[in-house]
Amino acid sequence: MNVWKKNNLWLIILIVLVVIVLGLTTYFWRKGNIVYSNEVVTIMKKEDILDIVNRNKYSKTLEVALNSNNFIKDYTKDYEKIDYIEKDNFVLEVNKLLSLNYEADEINVIFKNLSPINLEKLLKENRKIDLAKYYKYANFEVDKINRYEAYSLICNCSLKDVIGKVNIGLDQDFYTNIQNVVVSDDYTTLVNKYRSIGNYEPDDLVYLGEGSKYQLREQAADAFLKLVDAALLEGVNIIPYSAYRSYETQTQIYNSYVEKDGQEEADTYSARPGHSEHQLGLAVDVWSKGYNELKEEDANWLRDNAYKYGFIIRYTKENKAITGYIEEPWHLRYLGEDIAKAVYESKLTYDEYYDLYLKEN
Ligand SMILES: [Zn+2]
Repeated sequence: MNVWKKNNLWLIILIVLVVIVLGLTTYFWRKGNIVYSNEVVTIMKKEDILDIVNRNKYSKTLEVALNSNNFIKDYTKDYEKIDYIEKDNFVLEVNKLLSLNYEADEINVIFKNLSPINLEKLLKENRKIDLAKYYKYANFEVDKINRYEAYSLICNCSLKDVIGKVNIGLDQDFYTNIQNVVVSDDYTTLVNKYRSIGNYEPDDLVYLGEGSKYQLREQAADAFLKLVDAALLEGVNIIPYSAYRSYETQTQIYNSYVEKDGQEEADTYSARPGHSEHQLGLAVDVWSKGYNELKEEDANWLRDNAYKYGFIIRYTKENKAITGYIEEPWHLRYLGEDIAKAVYESKLTYDEYYDLYLKEN
């Protein structure tokens, strides 16, 4: 290769290198530089914020705020620090939080961590709340912060327990702060001393087999008959002695117990009308056949096997403080096989399980 050709090759390599370096520089320079549209720059001029805005840093939030009817000039620097999120009312929500004196960094954390329901609650609070310690608990509810704080002082338990108990309602007396709940179609409705289903009536009740006078909702009835058959194969012979009870029936039963034992005691074993799982058409009480009670070995079989057919033992000895009921090994609550199994394996009360995994939050 002669000298001329050799020099020419070096020149070509040099030109290629220069082109690459120039290309990369331009790419990164453009990327980090002004990308606001001309329209937005016009609005910036009108708002007289061109000098405030650090024009080397593009902020989608600022751009969206400027393009909305809700731009507030005082918040310009905050908009620049807040990560944009694609959603309705984003600018209005940012404005509201800034007006409550949340810092831009805190707002980023709030949007990242809060569920839509909790965010909605926070925006209604009209005060700044320090949520830092709550984020790691998925079941915390913003509108219960005051109750968490108050209960923390007397509960002598972890924040996790405080949140769980307050969510169920246990920081206050049974049958206070009662929430009226709409029964869902999926058999998971939680009814307890803080949650009422009013005078709900199921519309798919069927009798528990031919000649039975007891009723459950159809799917629960099918599951119950399967459970009875399976139990029998293992020498466990159980029969129902109560299942669906209407609001009126529950009223009569409860009142008769109150008359007999007084309200305080009656409340430990009988639900007030509107608060019974029997009214859901998803609970059945069982006896051992030929006995007016549930034999211990039959209760043990149910405890270990009912979940396989979609039922849980709702009221156990260990859970009395949470459910407010005495141990009721005879009371089976239908939840469907998947959830019954999950509740059984969790070793939690259904109240706790529901709060942690099923409620809309
Ligand atoms: Zn019962």
